[in-house]
Amino acid sequence: MRDGLSQPPYIGRFAPSPTGPLHAGSLVAALASWLDARAHGGQWLVRIEDVDTPRCVPGAADTILQQLASCGLLPDAPAVYQSQRGALYQQALDQLTRAGLAYPCGCTRQDIASALAIKGHARERHGELIYPGTCRAGLRGKPARAWRFLTLQTGQSTKVSWTDRRLGLQTQNVSEQVGDFVLRRADGLWAYQLAVVVDDAAQGVTDVVRGEDLADNTARQILLQRALGLPTPRYLHTPLVLGANGEKLSKQNGAQALLLSDPLAVLAALNTAATCLHLPAASGTLTEALAQWVKQWAAPMGTKIPR
Ligand code: GLU
Repeated sequence: MRDGLSQPPYIGRFAPSPTGPLHAGSLVAALASWLDARAHGGQWLVRIEDVDTPRCVPGAADTILQQLASCGLLPDAPAVYQSQRGALYQQALDQLTRAGLAYPCGCTRQDIASALAIKGHARERHGELIYPGTCRAGLRGKPARAWRFLTLQTGQSTKVSWTDRRLGLQTQNVSEQVGDFVLRRADGLWAYQLAVVVDDAAQGVTDVVRGEDLADNTARQILLQRALGLPTPRYLHTPLVLGANGEKLSKQNGAQALLLSDPLAVLAALNTAATCLHLPAASGTLTEALAQWVKQWAAPMGTKIPR
């Protein structure tokens, strides 16, 4: 409460994809989101993002929950699983379709490449072709494969600006830089963008704290929030831990599952994560270390993590 105005209570979350156990990089996002929730006297939720079933590893969700518990990062409610929330995503897709903001797309990858070649500009982004909008005007007899979000609303390009608590002002022209993105994939699976927006709103999330590699998705998520009439949370994107090849640490470039076999190993892993967040190394018991970091995070400069 400030100036007598009621503010929504703080609700934060950690939303891992169960593609493997937590590693040093994912622990940074988990610790930062937990610290931010605790420093705000808020709630901290865990959501298992298991929509991309082919990439999920059996048992990984349980392992992640156990690893978080070993680190003293305990959610305030039982974890929710996106694989059980398809009905909510369908409702959102129906709402967008009724509003003329989602449309079925019958294009294969090859169709997209050919359409772009004819236009003379195959625009790529992160190895993905930017969709040229072929099915905006209808399927023309092709069977529907994926569902896409219409980013060119009223024919205007869609420039989204938002302020990240660490990275500052960010701007992305979604229709030009990303294009009409997928909401439901050709294989029937729900796309991350739709699931994350629906769930953050359904869970009342006020603050998204996650790794910087995800910052680039935020403009798309804000567009979806606006289209669905949902509030936009605050965003804080945390520094990435880099692998030996200078890229974001991942299983592909050598991330090891965290070693959390005894209290010393747990504290060592958390100290490494804390250092990445520009917090001083802590000693003592796990409880003491976490309490120390919450206090530092809550201090006025606490979340001023350098870029
Ligand atoms: N499930 C995503 C990941 O593990 C994170 C999504 C998010 O925090 O918005 O990369």
